[in-house]
Amino acid sequence: MKRILVSGGAGFLGSHLCDKLLAEGHEVLCVDNFFTGNRRNIHHLLDNKNFELLRHDVTHPLYVEVDEIYNLACPASPIHYQFDPVQTTKTSVIGAMNMLGLAKRLKIRILQASTSEVYGDPEIHPQPESYRGNVNTLGPRACYDEGKRCAETLFFDYNRQHGVPIKVMRIFNTYGPRMHPNDGRVVSNFIVQALKGQDITIYGDGKQTRSFCYVDDNIDGMYKLMNSREGFTGPVNIGNPGEFTMLELAQQVIELTNSSSKLVFMPLPQDDPMQRKPVIDLAKQELGWEPKIPLKEGLVKTIAYFDSILSE
Ligand code: NAD
Ligand code: UDP
Ligand code: UDP
Repeated sequence: MKRILVSGGAGFLGSHLCDKLLAEGHEVLCVDNFFTGNRRNIHHLLDNKNFELLRHDVTHPLYVEVDEIYNLACPASPIHYQFDPVQTTKTSVIGAMNMLGLAKRLKIRILQASTSEVYGDPEIHPQPESYRGNVNTLGPRACYDEGKRCAETLFFDYNRQHGVPIKVMRIFNTYGPRMHPNDGRVVSNFIVQALKGQDITIYGDGKQTRSFCYVDDNIDGMYKLMNSREGFTGPVNIGNPGEFTMLELAQQVIELTNSSSKLVFMPLPQDDPMQRKPVIDLAKQELGWEPKIPLKEGLVKTIAYFDSILSE
């Protein structure tokens, strides 16, 4: 049994990770400042004797004793990370430094939740880990993209300079139950709009693509990466290579919800990537991981979740 710190543990991915780690028999220290996280996500864990919750902002130092760290703290949706962009960069960069300082002192493994956003608006398709990316340093997405890129740099420098055992995961768009209903991400927006019979908001012409990974597949990949062979650092892409346009996604959501919602077209946000799809050969080879849940099956589960919270 290990004592495992999950920063951002009250968030969408973090709360599913806490569930997984407890189910594997570990103790979890969930660290969150509740900026985008929600008590509801971890409410069912509060009575678990192996679960501990600490309200803390990772931009401040943290001295605790643990055996492993998963660093997930950071707002992830454009609306949330652009709300206070300076704080977003601080969370990514200073937060990473504090978690790395902790890992260095304790000589323990640390995993970074990085992102496909490090590839920016990619000129290479699909994206392998070797692609260096096309990020606008000055645009509205830069606080997140550059923050996450700098965090990767810190992870690799702590590894080379101090021998910290690191694992860097580049997460592609992930969806599922416990997504924030108002986070503006496309899957949550479309489902909530369809369930409420409101217009479905397509940004741009809807022909831009994304690859959507169901949360259980993501968490399985994250756990496998943390427990991968010594010396394997990544970065490794974790995502579902199934690629869909936003129009196709809207169509599927309308069908699965039997909704009468109509599509409306709105301006494409600045620097919105036109395409995104992971190459996952490295994850297959090193982790024996690949996603198992097709989009339709994942959408059905996610729709059921939103249906239940909207009818509360
Ligand atoms: P989320 O917003 O639901 O979770 C992030 C959590 O971090 C929240 O609980 C929030 O309160 C907490 N947090 C934010 N700033 C903090 C701070 N300064 N100190 C302590 N806690 C803080 O987002 P998510 O989708 O669960 O994303 C988790 C991680 O995965 C993030 O690092 C994100 O960048 C990364 N990621 C997610 C996706 C995705 O599609 N969901 C894709 C790529 C990368
Ligand atoms: N840190 C922390 N917890 C620890 C060890 C370090 O929060 O258990 C913080 C520390 O405050 C510092 C950061 O992590 O700001 C980086 O630590 P490191 O040891 O690399 O840097 P130094 O303290 O030498 O500047
Ligand atoms: N999008 C959309 N309608 C919405 C929300 C998002 O068409 O209501 C588009 C958005 O412009 C982007 C894609 O869906 O092209 C994915 O957006 P999201 O914010 O979910 O993720 P990210 O852009 O960070 O990959």
